[in-house]
Amino acid sequence: MAQVRLNHIAKQFDGQSVLADINIDIRDGEFMVFVGPSGCGKSTLLRTIAGLERATSGQVLIGSDEVTHAPPARRGVAMVFQSYALYPHMTVFDNIAFGLKLAKKPREEVERAVHAAAELLQIEHLLGRKPAALSGGQRQRVAIGRSIVREPRVFLFDEPLSNLDAALRVQMRVELIKLHRRLGTTVVYVTHDQVEAMTMADRIAVLNQGRLEQLGTPLELYRRPNNMFVAGFIGSPKMNFLDVSVAAVDESGVTVRLPGEVSLKMPVAGENLAPGDELKFGVRPEHVGLKAAVEGQVDATVSGEVVVVEHLGGEILVHLQIAGESTVELKSPGTHDEISCGDRLDIVLNADLCHLFNLEGQALTRTCG
Ligand code: ADP
Ligand code: MG
Repeated sequence: MAQVRLNHIAKQFDGQSVLADINIDIRDGEFMVFVGPSGCGKSTLLRTIAGLERATSGQVLIGSDEVTHAPPARRGVAMVFQSYALYPHMTVFDNIAFGLKLAKKPREEVERAVHAAAELLQIEHLLGRKPAALSGGQRQRVAIGRSIVREPRVFLFDEPLSNLDAALRVQMRVELIKLHRRLGTTVVYVTHDQVEAMTMADRIAVLNQGRLEQLGTPLELYRRPNNMFVAGFIGSPKMNFLDVSVAAVDESGVTVRLPGEVSLKMPVAGENLAPGDELKFGVRPEHVGLKAAVEGQVDATVSGEVVVVEHLGGEILVHLQIAGESTVELKSPGTHDEISCGDRLDIVLNADLCHLFNLEGQALTRTCG
């Protein structure tokens, strides 16, 4: 087990910047997820930890060792890829044992390690099969088994569940969380799926266009996104964003004018703002209340017309057209048979659950909480 430290990592391919000044400290035993859209540099960063890619500048430390220029085999890491890369002509046993045999480990030790890993992954009954006779989930377990027997200091996963169907992905997600709990080994896990990131991570690093946008626990990112990118990327359905203007500024906050001339006072610092300034307002669908149903704090009421209703059974998604071209999506528990397209509906907002961003997309500082 070991901590991993990324110091000012930058990477260029053919002069094109792919990673810029990445600083991340991964704690010993932590489950760290790198998440971001396709092409943002997640795999490149993971491969830099593995030694499969050389950083253009910066340092990689694993444990107390500086490994920036060390070959992959010297780093004590094991990597699991999206494509399982199993040897098709070898049995599951031999696939898992391959690295140990190559390292000329004694036969009894290899036997013991393979059986222990297979038991952990519940694939003991498959040890005599070839990969072609396995399902996708079983193959991925074999690939994970192959990395477990090497007893790495750090596990590196690059989108290991992306090839699996949705139901299996959810199941494997839970199994990987349990596996991490049992082994306690540091994990760095790459995914483009924010749900995977939210459910699996101790902490998440959100990457975008080669930059680290924010690092924090899942709930820190959900509750206090630093910027509009993180706000829009974490959470489903996506946060609503509306154009608003500043109506007034005082010690305790900034009053904004929402579409439809509705005022809402937000508990944020407004020292550089003046009436008339334009801002972006954000609120998650699950934090938009139905006036008829809400019991908590109400700081503003907005009226709109229902344009789309999506029934999920246990909850409902409603798309509302409010003033002008603005639309707001809301998510509410319950079936709500009473809501139909074309209805007028009043929705309510709680300022503590809303977000304000400047036009550069940076979140304004909260004056409380
Ligand atoms: P992600 O894993 O987040 O989808 P990658 O790290 O694979 O992103 O890629 C980041 C960027 O670097 C992409 O624009 C990709 O095209 C580019 N890239 C990756 N590997 C190479 C390479 N070997 N040569 C040139 N460009 C590359
Ligand atoms: Mg990738």
